[in-house]
Amino acid sequence: MSQEQSKIPQATAKRLPLYYRFLKNLYLSGKTRVSSAELSEAVKVDSATIRRDFSYFGALGKKGYGYNIQYLLSFFRKTLDQDELTKVTLIGVGNLGTAFLNYNFIKNNNTKIEMAFDVDINKVGTLIGDVPIYHFDELENRLANDVSIAILTVPASVAQPITDRLISLGIKGILNFTPARINVPDTVRIHHIDLAVELQSLVYFLKNYPLD
Ligand code: ATP
Repeated sequence: MSQEQSKIPQATAKRLPLYYRFLKNLYLSGKTRVSSAELSEAVKVDSATIRRDFSYFGALGKKGYGYNIQYLLSFFRKTLDQDELTKVTLIGVGNLGTAFLNYNFIKNNNTKIEMAFDVDINKVGTLIGDVPIYHFDELENRLANDVSIAILTVPASVAQPITDRLISLGIKGILNFTPARINVPDTVRIHHIDLAVELQSLVYFLKNYPLD
């Protein structure tokens, strides 16, 4: 991450990829500027928050003109390290893992799953979406030095020991799709995404807080 990002509040930083994706689409459709009201409607963030966020980016919207899309995009690209490729590994090529390998993230930004690991000998040695799958026993030999992030799509029961091994090899960020609550040292960032919990929570909100 670049220097500039450290000055941006975390809540603002979290909205960056959202802004980036929307503005990129606007730019590709030929637009050169956008108002905070338009953005607000599209990304569902209130316009006061957008104006405050954008002030951190040094982007000052002009009344009746809006924000310069090209300026914002070049700022986001720098801040999100979009000009640099971030290499990712994926552990566990089951149903979810396979879907991620096929999807890969290259369409959205410059992150790429470079290699995957599994213990299933039917999967080891194959390619899915151009990504090679190695045996997890080969982790130490195969994991490239410049891979800094791991996606975990293994059964919950093995998530912690796998994480410990990844961290000992220098992995700095983990996207955990297992329901396991994993412990990591302060020097490692872990984001938990439990799809079943997210879905249940959506069902709960729809039932208990109906929108109409
Ligand atoms: P599938 O239908 O292929 O079994 P799944 O997502 O339902 O997919 P899971 O049991 O969640 O299956 O396992 C996900 C993947 O993690 C499987 O491909 C499995 O071989 C792999 N896996 C299990 N244990 C380990 C381990 N210790 N190290 C690496 N990969 C593992």
